Amino acid sequence: MIKQPLPLSIKGLPKTLPKLRNFYSISQWVEPGGSLPVVAMSGRNIIQQICREDKQTFRAMTP
Ligand SMILES: Cc1cc2nc3c(=O)[nH]c(=O)nc-3n(C[C@H](O)[C@H](O)[C@H](O)COP(=O)(O)OP(=O)(O)OC[C@H]3O[C@@H](n4cnc5c(N)ncnc54)[C@H](O)[C@@H]3O)c2cc1C
Repeated sequence: MIKQPLPLSIKGLPKTLPKLRNFYSISQWVEPGGSLPVVAMSGRNIIQQICREDKQTFRAMTP
């Protein structure tokens, strides 16, 4: 059962899990508010984070 539902609905669920390396969760559940643009931004932000962790330059292209 989820404890503290209000803070979770504000902060969202964690994007990583303890003891599970290289796992990143992307969904409306980790980004409060949901919606397609927010979830797409969530994916972009995680790729940016992974690039930073891997010391790679993050490059984005617009269609
Ligand atoms: C009726 C409706 C209308 C909406 N209209 C809009 C809108 O106009 N504009 C807007 O921005 N947002 C809209 N939204 C919100 C938007 O759809 C969601 O915020 C967004 O799709 C969430 O993306 P997600 O990737 O988190 O989840 P989802 O898009 O739900 O993707 C989750 C995926 O995981 C799959 N899945 C689930 N469990 C498992 C499993 N055990 N194993 C494998 N696969 C699994 C599901 O089949 C699904 O494909 C709408 C939502 C609804 C319900």
